[in-house]
Amino acid sequence: MDNNNTLDAYWMGYTANQHFKAHPRLLEKAKGMYYWTPEGRKILDATAGLWCVNAGHNREKIVTAIQQQAATLDFAPAFQMGHPKAFELAKKLVAITPENLNHVFFTNSGSESVDTALKIALAYHQLTGEGRRTRLIGRERAYHGVNFGGMSVGGIAVNRKLFPNLLAQVDHLPHTHDLARNQFSLGVPVYGVDKAERLEQILQLHDPSTVAAVIIEPIAGSTGVLIPPAGYLQRIREICDQYGVLLIFDEVITGFGRLGKPFAADCFNISPDIMVTAKGLTNGAVPMGAVFVSDKIYSAFRQDDPMAINFYHGYTYSAHPLACAAAIGTLETYQEENLLYKASELAEYWQHALHSLADLPYVIDIRNLGLVGAIELEPRKNEPNKRAFQVYLDMFEQGVLVRTTGDVIALSPPLIISKPEVDQIIITLRQVLKQLSS
Ligand code: PMP
Repeated sequence: MDNNNTLDAYWMGYTANQHFKAHPRLLEKAKGMYYWTPEGRKILDATAGLWCVNAGHNREKIVTAIQQQAATLDFAPAFQMGHPKAFELAKKLVAITPENLNHVFFTNSGSESVDTALKIALAYHQLTGEGRRTRLIGRERAYHGVNFGGMSVGGIAVNRKLFPNLLAQVDHLPHTHDLARNQFSLGVPVYGVDKAERLEQILQLHDPSTVAAVIIEPIAGSTGVLIPPAGYLQRIREICDQYGVLLIFDEVITGFGRLGKPFAADCFNISPDIMVTAKGLTNGAVPMGAVFVSDKIYSAFRQDDPMAINFYHGYTYSAHPLACAAAIGTLETYQEENLLYKASELAEYWQHALHSLADLPYVIDIRNLGLVGAIELEPRKNEPNKRAFQVYLDMFEQGVLVRTTGDVIALSPPLIISKPEVDQIIITLRQVLKQLSS
């Protein structure tokens, strides 16, 4: 196969295109915990696709729901009109979201959900007579997708550097990762709650009555699986409450059972004002995102006059019938198999298995929570990220798909994973890490 000709037209995201096309890795088929390559190699999926295939691949109920929907209603306009599955899905979703989040706005991705949430927060303050609240606060090492709002509140220098015109009036909290104090800590780190106090300082610097919202990933996934220290998120919530600032949780990764409860908000016992989701919402089968808001926020947008829309926002494909069908099939699968709580059953085994790798060369930290894990490697001198990328390539050769971000190997298997499959991931990692060249 002449890869250059066959593969050249597709400009792939977050990929070194020419390098990849010279050495392509393709996936052709998937079922349950596994992918298959075009050559027929079976690959254990230790990343749930991209943190989204929580129920495992090609689940029958989801596939059938999509097929039936495509044959029944392919598309319906989403403005001043609806279709029954959208309302059915919304009702089913708010039954499992934290108690105060009873309304949902549909999007098509995590990035769209983030920007929708930021717009909702800013518009809410405008509509409730607090139009001075225009500032947004994100965090260093946060990933909130690739749209302009999400990039602005995000904290990844390489994503931002070609775009000087990001949103104005955005500040960043420090991230919570503290390797010196939390190395090899199990579950939630104990030290570092003082980092939340920085929010108070940022608010005072600007006058708290000018701040609209703080956006936080309960676990920063894409930048290395940074688990919040005990009490950190609670303190952020308290400070937001004290100053009338909205708290947005970006649960694109943590939502739908990843941590052993439906949402991270449940695990940490916190009610955000707005919750951003995507990925696990449809088990990755059809693109969809959803932004959940509190009753307080929804009622500020109350619209009884058909000509007085006060939130001029929405996507052609919001609540797309195929996505709604996929999400309903997904929720039913999650519920039938208790998958939203399943990670808590395996969390201890998972923790023990991951931390058994602590003795291997170059491993400088291991982190875990629910069915999320990270192994941080010492960066190679003058060649950061290369060591972890090598692990990714070697693992793929050995039949296990992992993900890397910087020098961190990130793991987030489908929630249907069994103990022998956990063992397979760990045994393969041990083998590959042992053979890493200096
Ligand atoms: N927020 C978070 C926390 C994410 O992890 C991601 C994707 N990894 C996004 C937003 C963006 O989602 P998408 O790629 O669907 O736009």
